[in-house]
Amino acid sequence: MRYVNATLPDGSRRDISVEGGRIAALLPSSGNAASAEDLDLDGALVLPPLVDGHIHLDKTLLGLPWVPNRATGNQVADRIEAERKVRAARSLPESETGTNLVRQVLASGTLHMRSHVDIDNQLGLRNLHEILKVRERFRDLVTIEIVAFPQSGVLRSPGAADLLDAAIADGADLLGGLDPVGIDGDLDGHLDAIFGIAERRGVGIDIHLHDGGEGGIVELLAIAARTKAAGLSGKVAVSHAFALGSVPTARAAETADALADAGVAIMSHGPGAATIPPLLLLRQHGVEVFGGSDNIRDAWSPFGNGDMLDRAMMIGYRANFRHDHELSVAYEMVTSAAARALGLADYGLHVGSRADFVVVAAGSIAEAIASRPRRKLVVKAGRVVARDGMLET
Ligand SMILES: [Zn+2]
Repeated sequence: MRYVNATLPDGSRRDISVEGGRIAALLPSSGNAASAEDLDLDGALVLPPLVDGHIHLDKTLLGLPWVPNRATGNQVADRIEAERKVRAARSLPESETGTNLVRQVLASGTLHMRSHVDIDNQLGLRNLHEILKVRERFRDLVTIEIVAFPQSGVLRSPGAADLLDAAIADGADLLGGLDPVGIDGDLDGHLDAIFGIAERRGVGIDIHLHDGGEGGIVELLAIAARTKAAGLSGKVAVSHAFALGSVPTARAAETADALADAGVAIMSHGPGAATIPPLLLLRQHGVEVFGGSDNIRDAWSPFGNGDMLDRAMMIGYRANFRHDHELSVAYEMVTSAAARALGLADYGLHVGSRADFVVVAAGSIAEAIASRPRRKLVVKAGRVVARDGMLET
């Protein structure tokens, strides 16, 4: 079959021919449908699948009656404590709320995601096993990479390191980390634990780093040095890295050089209140910068919907992007850059790739991010799986 009259991201008008779930040809547009099987896109913009580089499928409360945020302070530690109480009181398992969220983001065109999953001494591996069920449920539609995330710290949570190791054995794909100094108070101790497991298990790492200022920079440089020493270049990411936005430009630039040299990527969700890393400077220095939702309707944030075009807009808004070439950076952060950070093979709109794409009513990438139109179609392996923002199945 063919999807005819598609406008590709480069502005060209093409007919997308699909065979066996893959793009068989991208032909200059013929202008009309040749058979009853063909779908006329009428010039709508076709994007590769959206990629969420940082989501928390186990934390969302989507589908539950509204849960007010009851954190008693504004520090990460206050929110950790508040979440532990919410977890104990939830009436739906994480596999159900996580399913609600995957269905929602799938309808908005996200076909790949990296989900952090809480591992601590209260939960053990329960959340991991709940989200493994979600991954299995959606395995034909969405790829879900799982990070074993020590939400309560590694050193301050007795037994956490052993649980993280067991999480990898049970199916998690990467090791997480959390503010080695701000939460665990021991930079080397924290990094020894997670790099040790990652090296032994042969997996990558994605560390939450909220610690700001020069202290956060010291942590970033330590992560870069360990990444090089461990031979994990290209397999390590730091999420948030607020510190990069809170130090003088020259210091951020030399840190960017160290991150690029080590092959450490940076994830930003366009934070509301914290400093945002200097995205353009990082890219100029060769750092892979990608995007993610982070918290969606959970004990950390009442906001978020998992729509990666919305997220690209928020990133652009926070980064003060105004020109089309800047909006295209936000777009890359939720598509190709995130795909590279996640190590997705076979990503993109080219002959031979999987026929996975998203159709929106917009004339260009910049307009799509500015207007965030409803997704006309989400196509997986050549088949329409969502139409006008609603799942077909
Ligand atoms: Zn997060």
